[in-house]
Amino acid sequence: MSTTDADRPVLIAGAGPVGMTTALALNARGVPATILEADSADRDRSGSRAIYVHGTTLHTLERVHPGLGENLVEEGLVWPTRRTCWRGKEVFKRTYDNPGGDGKFPHFTSVPQVRTEEFMHEALDEAGIDIHWDCAVETVESSPDGVHVETSDGQEWETPYLVGADGGGSTVRDEIGAEFEGDQSKNSFIIADVDELEDEDEQWPLERLFHYDDPDVGGRNVMLVPFTGGWRLDIQCIEDDDPDELVTDEKMREFVTAVMGEEYADNLTWVSSYKFLQVMADTFVDEHRRVLLAGEAAHLLAPFGARGMNSGIADADEAASAVAVAYRAQTDAVARDEVELYAARREKAAEYNLNAAGQALEYLQGENPATVLRKEAAASLADYFEPAGEYLDDAPYGPHDAPPIVSTGNY
Ligand SMILES: Cc1cc2nc3c(=O)[nH]c(=O)nc-3n(C[C@H](O)[C@H](O)[C@H](O)COP(=O)(O)OP(=O)(O)OC[C@H]3O[C@@H](n4cnc5c(N)ncnc54)[C@H](O)[C@@H]3O)c2cc1C
Repeated sequence: MSTTDADRPVLIAGAGPVGMTTALALNARGVPATILEADSADRDRSGSRAIYVHGTTLHTLERVHPGLGENLVEEGLVWPTRRTCWRGKEVFKRTYDNPGGDGKFPHFTSVPQVRTEEFMHEALDEAGIDIHWDCAVETVESSPDGVHVETSDGQEWETPYLVGADGGGSTVRDEIGAEFEGDQSKNSFIIADVDELEDEDEQWPLERLFHYDDPDVGGRNVMLVPFTGGWRLDIQCIEDDDPDELVTDEKMREFVTAVMGEEYADNLTWVSSYKFLQVMADTFVDEHRRVLLAGEAAHLLAPFGARGMNSGIADADEAASAVAVAYRAQTDAVARDEVELYAARREKAAEYNLNAAGQALEYLQGENPATVLRKEAAASLADYFEPAGEYLDDAPYGPHDAPPIVSTGNY
């Protein structure tokens, strides 16, 4: 490792939540970091996307920038009620007196990703970390001594390490020759954000609702999750649905009215349809162990179980930890080991998270006859046997555990 490395900032491609966390986590470890971002500073990041922030993620953010986890807790909400309906009938409902638990941070908080990112931008300002906007990474050339990067604004950069946090279409991933492997959900899903009403007394209750085969929306599965300022409405398309036809203003007004009532029909703020990819890169690091992939550059997960941003933030923290040691290492072998350990841990975590999100997706798509039978049996027993209703309530989100890895225990 050359002694001049200590002066050169580590580069991060992408100012999404993962890139920003990587920069903060490097800064917390005394390593200078600079972010290169393809978009312009005045970009629009509308759409709530990640709303469910796990408690472990709050701890990580607080650790890398004191106050950041607290800001999210203050901004977010912890909904107290879980409710599930089956074909028009309630089969499970539970309200918790203390849904967040007694720890310093709640088990989770529900806050739109746009707000999370705004807090991260504030944290970067406080830490004095620069984002170079309109500065897309175009080429990446790594060698045993470091990385040469060219960006769309014509600049050339030398860095000891590059973290590729440039999202699902990652240029960094392509440049190091890594490839996504995996598959795609069969069904499409429509995801929309609905604003809260001005009149607090008229508000839909703060509950996370899952409705199987909701007769009011043509027998489709519906999920409703509150976050600060609004609700996430998720509708699972059924066979023969053309999602493009369903996301029109008129059709979405009908859906919102059917699920939440006419008073919400004008409150739709964002809608999009997805087929979810379930993929991960075949390697998270380059051959010279100088480039690390993190977040959606490394893996894409169906959102059930909320593992996307949460696991990306865990990648960011662990990438920063590895790079911080490698950056100061006195031998190349130690530096390489740290980066390889990062890959080993986070590739295992991604496999685990993919499997967990895949279980949720498989359950929702209902292709397995045994699963279909289990759901039907649980629905018929739910009136008399609470665990049957609880099973229906819990199953759409997949397993809850974090990857069983000797590390911080993060998702
Ligand atoms: C509908 C939906 C719901 C979701 N719900 C949840 C949830 O509840 N919980 C959860 O944990 N996750 C959820 N997710 C996933 C979450 O939104 C993503 O995992 C998260 O945004 C990934 O962050 P990232 O920083 O890796 O990538 P991005 O957010 O995609 O950021 C990548 C950044 O890199 C920039 N970039 C791209 N190319 C380049 C380049 N060549 N050079 C420089 N910069 C570049 C982009 O402009 C962008 O700023 C959801 C996603 C969707 C779509």
